[in-house]
Amino acid sequence: MPEKRSKKSITEISPIDVYKLLPKTNCGECHEANCMTFATRVVNGELTIEDCPPLLIDTKYQADHEKLVDLMMPPVRAVTIGAVGKTVKVGGKYVLYRHEFTYHNPTPIAIDVADYMGTDEIAARIKLVNSFTFNYIGRNLNLDAIAIRATSNDPAAFSAFVKDVARKTDMPLILCAYDPAVMAAGLAHVGGRRPLLYAATRENWKEMANIACQYHCPLVVSAPHDIPGLRSLVKTLTEYGVSDLVLDPGTSVDPDLSRTVHEFSQIRRSVFQQEDELLGYPLLGTPISAWLSPEISPEVIQWKEAYTASLLLSRYADLLIMHSVEGWALLPQLIWRFNIYTDPRKPVSVEAGVKTFGTPGRKSPVLITSNYALTYFMVENDIKSANIDCYLIVADTGGNSVESAVAGRYLTAETISGALKDYNVNNLVEHRYLVIPGLAARLSGDIEEASGWRVLVGPKDSSGVPEFLKTRWPPVDT
Ligand code: SF4
Repeated sequence: MPEKRSKKSITEISPIDVYKLLPKTNCGECHEANCMTFATRVVNGELTIEDCPPLLIDTKYQADHEKLVDLMMPPVRAVTIGAVGKTVKVGGKYVLYRHEFTYHNPTPIAIDVADYMGTDEIAARIKLVNSFTFNYIGRNLNLDAIAIRATSNDPAAFSAFVKDVARKTDMPLILCAYDPAVMAAGLAHVGGRRPLLYAATRENWKEMANIACQYHCPLVVSAPHDIPGLRSLVKTLTEYGVSDLVLDPGTSVDPDLSRTVHEFSQIRRSVFQQEDELLGYPLLGTPISAWLSPEISPEVIQWKEAYTASLLLSRYADLLIMHSVEGWALLPQLIWRFNIYTDPRKPVSVEAGVKTFGTPGRKSPVLITSNYALTYFMVENDIKSANIDCYLIVADTGGNSVESAVAGRYLTAETISGALKDYNVNNLVEHRYLVIPGLAARLSGDIEEASGWRVLVGPKDSSGVPEFLKTRWPPVDT
């Protein structure tokens, strides 16, 4: 039978539940107006109770602090990897489905280095993880950790290898060795960095638990395709005193991928629907397992690794270890992760205002769009690639796209007229022509009435803006 938790879910906890356990002094040390505002932001997942200094420091609040920790404990515990330099948090999930609240702690992606690789290859892979960045609608997407694998099973060789890798990066580390002697040798150099240890199994759990306790490191529990065995190991380890655990239920790629996804889903459902505390730990997916499959072509293996990673990001991996470093294998994961972990309650937006492109003059076109990030960056890209000198008004549409903003009345004749006034667009140009998106065409008459500006209805798709301006700008009567 599952070890049951009988607590309120995050969506049932009210700000009052949190407020009652706060110091209620309205001291402002959390930079919030008062304790009630703080409580509301905690319940919304925007702050944590650790952001209230008096609660942590003053012993008279200790009992309330403990109650709050228990109240706000996510069903999938959060585990931190790393202590100095960069750190990552894995797990910390409050809900089974993203739309119920939001997912926290985007799944870190670790890239492996192994002691069979040549010096140049190791250095290149570490450099890639250290510096990888891709700008996607204004956000930098990065890799997160390095998994150091022992394949020689030689403690001295692994020790030297770990030491060398650690010197080249401050990224969070995962040490991978099944032999406790090899693991201990590697840890001698990086124990203070709190790496994640992979892995405790039915055979080595006691020695690995001792090492994890000695260095205060989080530990992976591995029982491939054996959920009852995994659960039993978790019970044994927690009773032994290891509390920071990550679960490895095994990752098999095609043709057994459906089994893997089913097992990941079964574990997560056990936590949220059967309230099984013993399975309430972050899940590790290892798409790197694709490289064990018998295919000859590396491209086929990479393809399998990439789609395995994408599936596990969706169901329900909290940490991934990958081997492929090609952009086509990694970028889909980073973009997919970004989308999954975007708060569904808050569309991704950019700051509203007037943007200047090129060197616009007093006769240059004035366009308007929404502040939904994806829309904005598409428009920006189309303007920049055509080298258009213009002003672009980015209206505050609450992060909604043009079509949604018009339908939801976030973009109206009044808001557009207000934006023209607020951003003093009158002073930027001598004409009074505004190019609006084709998807907002039905507002054109009202905009002219509300603002006194003449409206040119532009294309529905911003890729048509360069051609539109070529044929329609300047307007004939200017
Ligand atoms: Fe209230 Fe704590 Fe914020 Fe002070 S720091 S206002 S006690 S929540």
